[in-house]
Amino acid sequence: MVYNFNSGPSILPGEVFEQASRAILDFNNTGLSILEIGHRTPLFQEVMDEAIASVKELMALDKEHEVLFLHGGASTQFFQIPMNLLNENETAVYLDCGTWGTKAIKEAKLFGQVAIVASSKDKNYTYIPKGYILPAGAKYFHYTTNNTIEGTQMHGIPETNIPLVADMSSDILSRVMVFNRFDLIYAGAQKNIGAAGVNLVIVKKDILGKVDRKLPSMMDYRQHIEAGSMLNTPPVFAVYLCMLTLRWLKKSGGVAAIEKINDEKAGLLYKTLDELPVFRPTVVPEDRSKMNAVFVIDDPALEKEFQAICKQEGIVGIKGHRSVGGFRASLYNALPLSSVQVLVDLMKDFANKKG
Ligand SMILES: *Cc1c(COP(=O)(O)O)cnc(C)c1O
Repeated sequence: MVYNFNSGPSILPGEVFEQASRAILDFNNTGLSILEIGHRTPLFQEVMDEAIASVKELMALDKEHEVLFLHGGASTQFFQIPMNLLNENETAVYLDCGTWGTKAIKEAKLFGQVAIVASSKDKNYTYIPKGYILPAGAKYFHYTTNNTIEGTQMHGIPETNIPLVADMSSDILSRVMVFNRFDLIYAGAQKNIGAAGVNLVIVKKDILGKVDRKLPSMMDYRQHIEAGSMLNTPPVFAVYLCMLTLRWLKKSGGVAAIEKINDEKAGLLYKTLDELPVFRPTVVPEDRSKMNAVFVIDDPALEKEFQAICKQEGIVGIKGHRSVGGFRASLYNALPLSSVQVLVDLMKDFANKKG
């Protein structure tokens, strides 16, 4: 038995893998593989239509919000967003609360002015900055909802009167949010919605078309909207995997139902971490992520020992990011509560023996 705590690409529902593997051999009883049909056939159009409709339904999006499936991963959005939204002489405001946000800031500076309104770099990004005031007149405010590497998460939505842009790569569809409050949401698929190779972008139409620069077609959100995410060949199989995973999520009761389970998983793990002195969670309690729990064992010998025990017991992907060290347990939607129970039991057993 393997318990998959990988941070991304990461666990997906078993039934999605079964359906996807069947579709590689014979897609919907057509005698053709999903990998050998044209993306402009009705067969694939249905896949794209269902994927888009599922996102709209699960996130309760209004008519002003468009759903796109694009290439290039979340990292392409780091520059595509300022390219589409920010003129050279205009300012965008960024919250500096982790490694991914730092990368987004670097790319935005290529296209316009960037103001960093607050940062938690002083404490290695182990908390979410609070109490800052957003400057008036900025073009948009960008933040990362869940910091995958450092294990922090912003639990509310910031109050703004400028367009709100969020990188939700690692907690999209994991909790109920008023998604219509955002003007642009993006997420690489490989953490909560499917396989690597596709990127979900949700954009409110009225923020587009306001920059002076000329945009390459593939970088222009408006052209992708017009083409229904088929400006060129989309990553067909990756979109199909998203469609299947979204279908699974709907069948499982949607975002509210999965949030309940995610709360239980995170609650159980953090409670155990707080109870056992050998483990030390690195993030301040109020900003802990329900998707990526980061913790350390201060004694290097014990750390090695626990790593070896995890390996032996089939616990996979629990090593911390190379920039942080220690451990990180990723608790994405598809990870069952029973896997967290296995991990927690192992931790208790380890703590008892090492007392
Ligand atoms: C994984 C991740 C990214 C990078 O995604 P790519 O698809 O590899 O570009 C960006 N932001 C966050 C929050 C992530 O978790």
